Amino acid sequence: RVELGARAYDVRIGQGLLARAGAEIAPLLKRRRVAVLTDETVAGLHLDSLRDGLGDIAMTALALPAGEATKGWPQFSRAVDWLLSEKVERRDIVIALGGGVIGDLAGFAAAILRRGVRFVQIPTTLLAQVDSSVGGKTGINSVHGKNLIGAFHQPALVLADIGVLDTLPGRDFLSGYGEVVKYGLLGDAAFFDWLEGNGPALARGDAGLRQHAVRRSVEMKARIVERDETEEGDRALLNLGHTFCHALETATGYSARLLHGEGVAIGCALAFELSQRLGLCAQEAPSRVRAHLRAMGMKCDLADIPGDLPDADALLALMAQDKKVLDGKLRFILARGIGEAFVAGDVDTATVRALLQDALSMRP
Ligand code: NAD
Ligand code: ZN
Repeated sequence: RVELGARAYDVRIGQGLLARAGAEIAPLLKRRRVAVLTDETVAGLHLDSLRDGLGDIAMTALALPAGEATKGWPQFSRAVDWLLSEKVERRDIVIALGGGVIGDLAGFAAAILRRGVRFVQIPTTLLAQVDSSVGGKTGINSVHGKNLIGAFHQPALVLADIGVLDTLPGRDFLSGYGEVVKYGLLGDAAFFDWLEGNGPALARGDAGLRQHAVRRSVEMKARIVERDETEEGDRALLNLGHTFCHALETATGYSARLLHGEGVAIGCALAFELSQRLGLCAQEAPSRVRAHLRAMGMKCDLADIPGDLPDADALLALMAQDKKVLDGKLRFILARGIGEAFVAGDVDTATVRALLQDALSMRP
């Protein structure tokens, strides 16, 4: 449960939740109908299961094109107008069935439709199950940058069906795993130990291990969001690795060259190396982070990103554009060790530049 007073909600995590969706959602309904926003890929794989699971609850659905490009004004306005044409009212429920793109877009649509209707997240990627479906950040991208338009709008319920992850391509699964590793690194050393031992079997498909990893990740996110719903302070810890990640995503054009969670994994490794160079943590910490990512077959350094990258100064400039800049100083999430992250307000630019130069020099 995410305890947020009047906005509290449950996150249910398990196998076969899609097949039970009707029973899970029924208590929220004032009339027995729902409007579903999804993408074309997910619709082809899982929309029929959801329809079956809803039983006698009437369902209407709109499938948008799959991919990050959907998260902008054109598809957003199409979705909002469709919800209105389907006569979705204040008492109704909108369902987001998909990854983070659909969850962010549908959540924002629900936030502004008739000044706010309730919505249910049914996340279908690992990234969405452990991260984007929980916490109430919704929104779309602008030509000026990612996630610049949005609202805080908490879901009324989250249904994370571990079984739907079976159809997720391996690369997308490992990208989501980047966020899972982030939770261990930022606040739970025992969970990171557990991932070192169980990560490979989890990636191969073990449902029990997947369920534990999703549950622990969601618990950590829920506790942080409860303390700081609108990111005045502690919630920034969830941005571990993300200052580097956003610069790298911008540099690679948000393309298939680097998926978000891949950038997070590389960013976490760099954040630990930066912490070590600043004398905050032992050399063992960044080495362990990289060793685990390598054991998982994941990218863990700038050398693993294909194609050209800009030089260290250009990357630094991209970091300075990131939201996490306070009064012109670089704000980073650093760590005193594995599981011990903190928000650092004023990080010396020269150390970051040297770190980036060294990492870039290792590229083939
Ligand atoms: P995504 O929604 O684009 O999904 C990735 C791909 O997987 C898509 O092609 C999708 O069609 C496909 N897919 C989804 N579920 C599938 C399944 N079960 N089987 C097969 N294919 C499936 O991307 P994502 O990685 O889930 O989310 C990334 C987005 O999330 C970004 O826009 C990011 O900004 C956002 N995000 C938001 C938050 C937040 O707090 N709101 C947090 C992190 C990320
Ligand atoms: Zn992220």
